[in-house]
Amino acid sequence: MIKSLDSFNFKNQKCLIRVDFNVPINESGEITDDNRIRQSMKTINKVISDGGIPILMSHLGRPKGEKNQKYSLKPVADYLSKTNSTIFLDDCIGEKIKLEISKAKPGDIVLLENLRFYNEEEANDPAFSKQLSELGDVYINDAFGTAHRAHSSTEGITKFMKNRFMGYLIEKELDFLGHSIANPVKPFTAIIGGAKISGKIDVIENLIGKCDYILVGGGMMFTFLYAQGYNIGNSIIEKDKIGLAKEILKKAEDSETKLVLPIDTKLADSFDNNANAIVTSVSDILGDYMGLDIGPKTINLFKNFIKHSKTVLWNGPMGVFEFSNFSDGTFELAKSLAEATKNGATTIVGGGDSAAAISTIGLDDEISHISTGGGASLEFLEGKTLPGISALEIYV
Ligand code: AMP
Repeated sequence: MIKSLDSFNFKNQKCLIRVDFNVPINESGEITDDNRIRQSMKTINKVISDGGIPILMSHLGRPKGEKNQKYSLKPVADYLSKTNSTIFLDDCIGEKIKLEISKAKPGDIVLLENLRFYNEEEANDPAFSKQLSELGDVYINDAFGTAHRAHSSTEGITKFMKNRFMGYLIEKELDFLGHSIANPVKPFTAIIGGAKISGKIDVIENLIGKCDYILVGGGMMFTFLYAQGYNIGNSIIEKDKIGLAKEILKKAEDSETKLVLPIDTKLADSFDNNANAIVTSVSDILGDYMGLDIGPKTINLFKNFIKHSKTVLWNGPMGVFEFSNFSDGTFELAKSLAEATKNGATTIVGGGDSAAAISTIGLDDEISHISTGGGASLEFLEGKTLPGISALEIYV
């Protein structure tokens, strides 16, 4: 059993909360995207309103075990102090830190310095985990983005803390990526894109048999098309994955899941936004052109599947959406997902590029759930157990 925050009153408790404050910070020390911080506030506020003291710990960037001010969490403390009384501590373990924490009063937020100033954090070093655990009475993990890593602050620490909880953000991720997908309201459609099959193979395999439809777009479509005998010109291909693509097509054929490939594509004569572009059917791909997006007929076809689905999962762009001339497939499907949400479907977007695409066109609030973890959401959708989540289990 994993305990939820609602099951406990945190009055007078020092609550060690692992958050994901790995946010982009510009040269002037300003946070350029505060989404991850805002997403953690519900958990932090629950502790504060109960009368407990949140002690936040996070990593930021890759300081590789060195105390490097470039990776200090001080800008995050400055951000938090605009709305809350915030105590920023210049370390994350030790007697001095314990003493400072003991001075905090209900209503304060304590933020520890970057965990990755110590190599021991990523090494999941037991002594370091123990030192972290000594800073609080209870442990809460709300950092979904790092839940697929067994680090001291996500896994090791739980061995020393009997009272442990999942934060609201992790609870929401589990609800959507776990429950909604394990028990989907049907029809259930998954849209899978991105550059390569290799990054998503386990996700596709895990979804065969669970979904009614899997729509494939992005660069990976060309390995599937090649496996079916199409000429794909200069389009991206993983030659060593052709056998695997054939296996997946066969596996889908033998299952209840229909795997749908694009019927047309937008070609370019070079990998450039301003390349000469032409739309052709997938059976007429020109030898010296490469497919950089799905074509308009495929967009309509995919939109129709989305429209008639009650659960839609999307992971990976449909084309090179960073190029405005090849972004239609990705952005049109994003709009279609927003429309489906309005009409009552549950729509779930994995983190990473698809989440970025939704943000670019300002549709974040029109999707049921956008995962905060790129790698973590992929691993979860592959059916893997995330160590930072299983470590929260309490056996009663
Ligand atoms: P992934 O990280 O595997 O989800 O891949 C995302 C990347 O795939 C994005 O940067 C896209 O530009 C790229 N991508 C999508 N479609 C294509 C394509 N047809 N050819 C080359 N790259 C693509």
